[in-house]
Amino acid sequence: LASNLSRAGAHLQRFKDGGVLNHIGGHAVEGSLGWFDTISPVDLTTLAKVAHGGRPDIDQAAQAAQAAFADWARMDGGKRRKLLHRIADAIEKRAEEIAFLECLDTGQALRFMSKAALRGAENFRFFADKAPEARDGRSIFGPGQMNVTSRAPIGPVGIITPWNTPFMLSTWKIAPALAAGCTVVHKPAEFSPLTARLLIEIAEEAGLPPGVWNLVNGMGEDAGRALTEHPLIKAIGFVGESRTGSRIMAQGAATLKRVHFELGGKNPVIVFADADLDRAADAAVFMIYSLNGERCTSSSRLLVEESVYDAFAAKVAEKAARIPIGHPLDPRTVIGPLIHPVHEAKVLSYFEKARAEGATIATGGEKLDGPGCYVRPTLFTNARNDMAIAQEEIFGPVLTAIPFADEAEALALANDVQYGLAGYLWTGDLTRALRMTEAMQAGMIWVNSENVRHLPTPFGGVKSSGIGRDGGDWSFDFYMETKNVAFAT
Ligand code: NAD
Repeated sequence: LASNLSRAGAHLQRFKDGGVLNHIGGHAVEGSLGWFDTISPVDLTTLAKVAHGGRPDIDQAAQAAQAAFADWARMDGGKRRKLLHRIADAIEKRAEEIAFLECLDTGQALRFMSKAALRGAENFRFFADKAPEARDGRSIFGPGQMNVTSRAPIGPVGIITPWNTPFMLSTWKIAPALAAGCTVVHKPAEFSPLTARLLIEIAEEAGLPPGVWNLVNGMGEDAGRALTEHPLIKAIGFVGESRTGSRIMAQGAATLKRVHFELGGKNPVIVFADADLDRAADAAVFMIYSLNGERCTSSSRLLVEESVYDAFAAKVAEKAARIPIGHPLDPRTVIGPLIHPVHEAKVLSYFEKARAEGATIATGGEKLDGPGCYVRPTLFTNARNDMAIAQEEIFGPVLTAIPFADEAEALALANDVQYGLAGYLWTGDLTRALRMTEAMQAGMIWVNSENVRHLPTPFGGVKSSGIGRDGGDWSFDFYMETKNVAFAT
């Protein structure tokens, strides 16, 4: 830990000295509203000051993205492919810096964040390879005509990202936009600005032309709002809370923004008695307690068949109580501090709600002593699906376990929430898995597995969990317009 702390301190020093700057039209710039602080969730000290941008900064960034658009959109797909691979190479070279700064800024454990750069680079490589085919269309014969379709990038786009795994998510949203030929204005989350700054520097050092990608830090209701209302911005790719998605849709209405939303979840993991229960327990524990439970696809509701419920819940509680909590840069740590005292207060409020509603806290349910945002991994039992702890996204290391009698009840419980992002199903019966997955209301379901992402597959949610899909060619559907030309024959 001591050596990691000193290396992380060295990476942070430039931000301590000069602050985290915005980046517009190829230039590092200050914000029109002064500065705000980003703090360490470990001890609440200030890590760095951050350029505070607002409406005028967003306007400059949108103008820069517009000015760069024509050349970037026209660039040959093969050339774009090479450039995006160069960005991926440069991300890999700075993997340690990315990982350490992400840990300091977010409280996420190094054992997970050490893979953040590799996954970010993989996102760039995946979409780099798709760049040459981005504009491809189809030919469709009709009576007396031959139709030819083609795709073109929609224009400058706004990308608004949350504070959970901010580096990985920024690459996941920005790489396909660039591969499609769009230019970008990025507004990262105010709680975690460090690695967004690194990312844009890396991209320009790798040869990305100025203005193709612009960065404005600031508050959601201010810089974020201005981005969603800007007439030059043609579409908004947003990842964050469902209620923010609603606001963005309203804000973008006047300029008819196209929107793509990856929103909240209250994802069930359904365990039948015929499943491999040891594997299922490990996966359930991993999917809620890793990444501090601050993960959109975390399995925050554990639905277990009655006959094995008590033993299964006891096993999960025992595993949860043994999870190492510590400094994010300690290689042994699995759970670090939550992102910010504001979010910590939200998570802690559910311990009170759970007690008031009559649930049992089987393990956890408290904050650790000290200034940092450390919360013990928690399991609620004796819970019902109508309780707040089963309905609302808590977004912390907090799991609610509920028994079910049969398939019908498992399905009813799984679907009885406003969300529909992901679901997890554990059973040894293939026909049951087919029946259940067909009826489960979720954009993504994993059967007998934790969340293992394969980038060509669609990613996104139904109900209040999102609009649109990312991954594979689905990303291009969002970032591009399709044109049809009919030739008379
Ligand atoms: P949030 O909605 O509070 O903020 C996300 C971003 O939106 C931030 O950059 C914020 O500044 C900005 N914002 C806030 N108000 C805005 C406004 N009025 N106009 C424009 N921008 C605005 O979300 P958060 O708390 O940062 O992130 C956690 C949430 O993100 C959780 O709900 C989680 O489930 C969700 N999430 C979803 C996915 C997914 O793929 N579905 C992935 C990661 C996170």
